[in-house]
Amino acid sequence: MRSIHVSVTVTTGWTNWAGTATAHPTRIHAPRDLAEVTTLVEAVGERGGKLKAVGSGHSFTAIAAAPDNLIRLDAYRPAPVVDPATGLVTVPAGTTLHDLNRLLAAHGLAMPNLGDIDAQTVAGATATGTHGTGARLGGLATFIAGVTLVDGTGTVRRYDADSPELAAVAVNLGALGVVTDITLRCVPAFRLHADERPMPLDTVLAGFDAFADDNDHMEFYWFPGADRALVKRNNRAGEAPPLSRFRGWLDDEFLSNRVFGAVCRLGRAVPATVPAITAISARALSARTYMDDSAAVFCTPRRVRFVEMEYAVPRGSFAAAFEGLRAAAARHRVVFPVEVRVAAADDLWLSTATGRDSVYFAVHQYRGMPYRGYFDEVEAVMRELGGRPHWGKLHERTAADLAADYPRFGDFLALRDRLDPGRVFGNPYLDRVLGA
Ligand SMILES: Cc1cc2nc3c(=O)[nH]c(=O)nc-3n(C[C@H](O)[C@H](O)[C@H](O)COP(=O)(O)OP(=O)(O)OC[C@H]3O[C@@H](n4cnc5c(N)ncnc54)[C@H](O)[C@@H]3O)c2cc1C
Repeated sequence: MRSIHVSVTVTTGWTNWAGTATAHPTRIHAPRDLAEVTTLVEAVGERGGKLKAVGSGHSFTAIAAAPDNLIRLDAYRPAPVVDPATGLVTVPAGTTLHDLNRLLAAHGLAMPNLGDIDAQTVAGATATGTHGTGARLGGLATFIAGVTLVDGTGTVRRYDADSPELAAVAVNLGALGVVTDITLRCVPAFRLHADERPMPLDTVLAGFDAFADDNDHMEFYWFPGADRALVKRNNRAGEAPPLSRFRGWLDDEFLSNRVFGAVCRLGRAVPATVPAITAISARALSARTYMDDSAAVFCTPRRVRFVEMEYAVPRGSFAAAFEGLRAAAARHRVVFPVEVRVAAADDLWLSTATGRDSVYFAVHQYRGMPYRGYFDEVEAVMRELGGRPHWGKLHERTAADLAADYPRFGDFLALRDRLDPGRVFGNPYLDRVLGA
């Protein structure tokens, strides 16, 4: 292989956050500039090798598993370009959402919407269609205004807002190239009024559409078997005092992570206690309102490790999907809550919300506890309703049956053939969901 500037031989292997995917890459590469990326791609391609870009390893699937060479973009750090007038911000693709949020705040800007955590990289989060909640907002990739990538032939390509293929490159599954820079369309910094309160489950189910449509960001958490749910409504208007540092620590760190972690360990060690644990957990939910910068409200630390599957179904299928999920969950011991969110339809080729307003059902289980049967049954329910799985979360779907769910699936495959004819960026997960 041609000499590559920065490479380290791997001795320990790679594991994702959840411990659900492992890999033993032959080498790890940390290029410092675009030329080093192109040299690397060409060199790997010439010898028929594989190269997989890895972000923060927060995907539950093996989408980021590198069977051969692994490339990280930690050392690729051109200065961000921020234009406060237009809100367009270009960052190196390996920037974490945490660092992105700090950068934006320093310039009086913010992401229009975010998911639950900020540990992911911009490239990794958008590649898998990561989303937050909001009936009038799309996932993070819908805020992309431009992408620079190095394709499988070593060619540097730039896609801007006027390129029809930006809609394919935005949610790319890591299959089209090494993304080096991403331009995001940001908004003026805003504060969110957060209202979190437990409600009877029947009230939440009956009022779901109104809750979702009447709030900027609405979601709910439900412990399987419980008769109430925690409804979170975050809105750009309103006044409330900031959460005291103690209350913030108590809720987000102590109760959500430390106490919940101990409770989950008990459930794993003594499965018979699970029904009591979920009942107590549901009872422990309490109301709070506060106001803070948007990123601080959207993103909270998640230290208790879990496994997750998430499906998007059309908004109109909410009731059927919830009832099917509820019946499936009743047959299993589940300590983690179900999370339900919404997103507006978008036009990104492989977005789970492409072409339709969507409701997302995320099912979780504490790491080390059985989950396969529960997830399989929920997956069957969601598939009946035309559900699309989150690309970064566990699922069992294959290219043969996914193709029918995405109107532009064939176009994406054709683009992949053009950008990565030698499958330099392939791995077993992509073989399964896109074909070899
Ligand atoms: C605790 C936790 C909370 C989460 N919360 C949410 C949530 O609220 N909403 C949601 O939708 N998802 C959520 N996720 C899922 C997560 O956002 C996605 O799996 C995301 O892809 C992880 O980003 P990453 O940087 O870790 O990427 P990785 O998992 O490392 O990689 C994901 C994909 O991106 C590709 N990739 C990474 N960098 C590049 C690059 N430079 N060029 C080309 N391809 C690249 C990889 O090859 C791979 O295909 C959560 C996951 C965890 C563990």
